[in-house]
Amino acid sequence: MAKSYLRFWGVRGSYASPFPTHLKVGGNTSCVEITVDGHTVICDAGTGIIPLGNKLVADNTVKDILIVLTHYHWDHICGLPFFVPAFIPDWNINFFGPGESIQEIKQNLDSQMQAPYFPVGTETWMAKVNYIEPRETNISRGPIDITYYGVHHPGVTYGYKIKANNKTIIYVSDNECQFLDKSIKQKMTEFSEEEQEMFEAMNREEYEYELQSIQDADILIHDAQYTPDDYESKRGWGHSCYVDVVNYAIDAGVKELYLYHHDPYNDDDAIYLIYEKCLEIIQKRNASLRCHIAREGLEIPLD
Ligand SMILES: [Zn+2]
Ligand SMILES: [Zn+2]
Repeated sequence: MAKSYLRFWGVRGSYASPFPTHLKVGGNTSCVEITVDGHTVICDAGTGIIPLGNKLVADNTVKDILIVLTHYHWDHICGLPFFVPAFIPDWNINFFGPGESIQEIKQNLDSQMQAPYFPVGTETWMAKVNYIEPRETNISRGPIDITYYGVHHPGVTYGYKIKANNKTIIYVSDNECQFLDKSIKQKMTEFSEEEQEMFEAMNREEYEYELQSIQDADILIHDAQYTPDDYESKRGWGHSCYVDVVNYAIDAGVKELYLYHHDPYNDDDAIYLIYEKCLEIIQKRNASLRCHIAREGLEIPLD
């Protein structure tokens, strides 16, 4: 294992899907580990954090970790009740995520471990647990620097920009690309010419902000949950169609795109078909973007 690396522990959206037809890509929900020179940051705490926790305990080297949460939907926090390091006394676990106060973040995590949903509460966590002030703008862990920005997903949801070893990694687990454009386009005929012009200007401004957020990223890990057909029936649900994600990554000059937050309905064949379609788009646009499927166990060296 490289000294500095990014590893996918969970790549599914919505719910864990450990079905035999899904195991090439993997069935655990969102969790990515970034370890640089002995410092570890974990993005999201879906079921993928369970095997990661077991590995950290077995290795017994990194005992001070930072977990950054994009938001508090179940698929992003449901591994925490089974995250073994939290139950061991000499561990330090730091949490950061959207919220108005430390109390609110704590409450969001406590509530999934309360009766009648779970037998023991977070008061049984024996690790030293620290909640980082949500208004903190720059968070770091050794050589890893982290900033965040708001994305389009129900409730407040963050995308994370992580810099380490001269690489920029952007983690956007849940996001509906070009949300405004997608939601307005269909209703355009109902608006006056003046209103249409105003919306077009707003659209351009929104896309400019979206492009700036991921501009020139070395690695972009992005929600690609829907096919164009799925998207038509799930517009406004807060997830992206892979066609939009690939075009978005090309427009922003991203180097490597990892399709992420796969729909649990899609088996391995369906996801590899999406991948083929993405390659076609890249070829058609004659772009240099390299596209990959984020799959469980995949490790990217960051040395
Ligand atoms: Zn999700
Ligand atoms: Zn969500």
